[in-house]
Order: sequence, then structure tokens, then C-alpha cells
Amino acid sequence: MVTLVVVTKAQPAEMIRAAHSAGCKDFGENYVQEAVAKIAALGDLALTWHFIGRLQSNKAREVAERFDWVHGVGTVRLAHALSKGRPTTLPPLNVCLQMNISGEASKGGVRAGEVVALAREVAGLPGLRLRGLMGMASYSDNVEGQRAQFVQVRQGAQALRVAGFEVDTLSMGMSADLEAAIAEGATMVRIGTAIFGERQGKAAAA
Ligand SMILES: *Cc1c(COP(=O)(O)O)cnc(C)c1O
Repeated sequence: MVTLVVVTKAQPAEMIRAAHSAGCKDFGENYVQEAVAKIAALGDLALTWHFIGRLQSNKAREVAERFDWVHGVGTVRLAHALSKGRPTTLPPLNVCLQMNISGEASKGGVRAGEVVALAREVAGLPGLRLRGLMGMASYSDNVEGQRAQFVQVRQGAQALRVAGFEVDTLSMGMSADLEAAIAEGATMVRIGTAIFGERQGKAAAA
């Protein structure tokens, strides 16, 4: 089964309310300030919130207090900050470790050889629950080129299982490459543009 995470950066709260009425439950945001306001405005709905953006450790507490998932934990430092910031009244925060599968310096995440070591650190933190891996492919207009990147996430998850971790989530695939990601075993796709059309404003640059 593939879970659709509806990416609502740059969309107003009313749009999220409408998507919820249409049956969507999982929503992805990647700017802390923007998300915090929308989560507060939609507090009457039972939604699952996914933080999918780049996160600085100094904003970790805000995210750990309000979100259900963080995709893209790429450093031990961030993992510690999220664990420390997670209120003990809430269940542990679900996290995916981010893998850098494109080799681009502009994208965060660890290389394949570093995944197991990061998982060992994260698995020991009381505020976090390690669920799997997340990856973002660089632009490629052919499915084979996209799959060649996503396969690394699938192999990373296998390496985690061999090392004794129970992982059930491969978060990969956006509007431009969801078919390739699903072909490589994605269990969560993060889709914005294909649902809402092109974004306006600052989020369009992300
Ligand atoms: C914006 C974003 C998405 C959604 O991208 P679309 O191309 O609009 O589907 C998915 N994942 C991350 C991390 C994003 O920042």
C-alpha cells in the first residue's frame, strides 16, 4: 500500500480542509512558521502532519511538539534535538532518515554507507520511532534515471533490516517521479503540484 502525503506548502488552511473533506488525512509541510499557523487553524480535524522540509536544530522543538512525522533526519544532532523536544505526553515522533541519493550537495542526507550508523543513534532516542528512509531524486526526465536513484533507498532499507532494524517506510516520489518511486517500493509519496497545480510565491522555489 502506498500512502499519499498531500503536500500543502503555500496552500491556505481552507484548501487543506477541503482536501480532508475529500478523504485526505496525511499532509506535508516544509516551512515551520507557515505550518504552525495552519496546524493551529485546523486543530478541530484529526490530521496526520508530516514535516518534509529542511529543519534546523533550533526549530526542532516546535516541530517535535506539533508534527506526527519528520521525513529527512540527516544528522545525529537533529535527531537528538527532536527527541529532546518531543513531549513525553505524546507517542514517539515517527522519523525517516534522509539519504542523499542524487549526490547533489544542495540536498541533505547521508550516503548509503552511513545509514546504519545513523540508525543506531536514532534508535536509542526515547522521543523518536525510526520508521524508515526518505530520498529525493535529482531531476531526470526518464524513469530509468529516476529508478537508478530510488533503488538506493530500497537497498538502504534492506541494509537496515539486515542490521536488525524494523523499518516499514520508504518515503520517496514527488509529482515528477512518483511512478519510478513506486516501482522501487515507495510506501509514501509526497505530492503537491500534481494535486494543486504550480505553487505561487516563495514555496515555488523550494
Ligand atoms: C515540495 C515538496 C514535495 C512535493 O513536490 P511536488 O513536486 O509539488 O509534488 C515533496 N517533497 C518535498 C521534500 C518537498 O519539499
